[in-house]
Amino acid sequence: MAAITMKKIVKRYGDGFPAVNEVSLDVRDGEFMILVGPSGCGKSTLLRMIVGLEDITSGEMVIGDRVVNRVAPRERNLSMVFQNYALYPHLTVFENIAFPLRLAKTPDAEVKRRVNETAELLELTEHLERKPANLSGGQRQRVAMGRAIVRQADAFLFDEPLSNLDAKLRGQMRTEISRLQRRLGVTTVYVTHDQTEAMTLGDRVAVLRKGVLQQVGSPRELYEQPVNLFVAGFIGSPSMNFLPASVDGTTLETPLGRFEVRDERKAAALEGREVVLVGIRPEHFEDASLVSEEKKAHGSVVAAHVDVTEWLGNELYAYVPYEAPDDLAAQLRELSRELDGDQLRTQAVVALDASSPITPGRDAELWIDTSRIHIFDPSTGDNLT
Ligand code: ATP
Repeated sequence: MAAITMKKIVKRYGDGFPAVNEVSLDVRDGEFMILVGPSGCGKSTLLRMIVGLEDITSGEMVIGDRVVNRVAPRERNLSMVFQNYALYPHLTVFENIAFPLRLAKTPDAEVKRRVNETAELLELTEHLERKPANLSGGQRQRVAMGRAIVRQADAFLFDEPLSNLDAKLRGQMRTEISRLQRRLGVTTVYVTHDQTEAMTLGDRVAVLRKGVLQQVGSPRELYEQPVNLFVAGFIGSPSMNFLPASVDGTTLETPLGRFEVRDERKAAALEGREVVLVGIRPEHFEDASLVSEEKKAHGSVVAAHVDVTEWLGNELYAYVPYEAPDDLAAQLRELSRELDGDQLRTQAVVALDASSPITPGRDAELWIDTSRIHIFDPSTGDNLT
């Protein structure tokens, strides 16, 4: 097994904008690292540079104690699982899994032992004689993983391995991959654009945007302390609400109403500022009619007009449209364009307890856990808290 160290890695295709721009990242020995970001952020390119399928324009790629910039892919001793499985249709499951061992001219008895062991681990034993065409999507995915883990590679690399599966199977495979990785303890780098996979699978998550590494941390760190608007909006579902706010001392005037910032550190972030963006996660709102007086005192209550609700059984999403003052609205649109998304909506999404009696078209009171809000610089998007 091996650690993977990336030092100021740059990739330019032709003379355009760098697809990967000075990324420095340490993947520790045995760690499960996720690379996540929207389409085109450079995550597959980075993975392909680790494996050796793509040249590195500048910077250094170190695997174990070896600089591998000029080492051929098959000499890097890495195993990769692709999105489209890449199974051989004419070979049985057994031979598909055995493939890397055959390439390495492993003796027959050893091949048999290792393939059987791997099949056992992945619950494929009874399918070993079948051809890929006769397997379900999930089974094919397991065969692809079997082929990756059958030889003792220094690290596993996954490129969106679950994106062709339906939602239910994806959930199951997620748990299986997680269990398998923990059991084998092999350094793993896993690329996805799916924030749920990123949050549930990895020890740590690296968030990329336009080729630039934004933040690396545990799922909890990214959720609780996102460094900027982009990470804040990308991690968490439904995504964080960003409200423009004018600052009056420690009071914030937002389109949802006025509220008080009590936390000292957060209040300090407001000093000297006239306008900020306030980030509130949907789950940090509650239906005020269900909140005790004592708890109310630790946050703020605002009036809201809910126009749509979605009842999901375990929770209720309520949508609260709002109007931002013209100057703030213009600033928001600008920032939204910069962030290439509709992260800055003119409606707030709140996730309430499923027992909430809130109905569409009515005025309601919402309680905000103000200890959990984030305050962002509206021109840079940096998290000030
Ligand atoms: P996706 O999830 O859509 O695969 P990604 O985050 O993996 O996206 P990459 O595939 O790494 O992104 O692409 C990063 C950037 O590099 C994109 O702008 C892409 O258009 C560009 N790119 C990727 N491969 C090539 C190539 N072979 N030649 C030129 N440009 C490329």
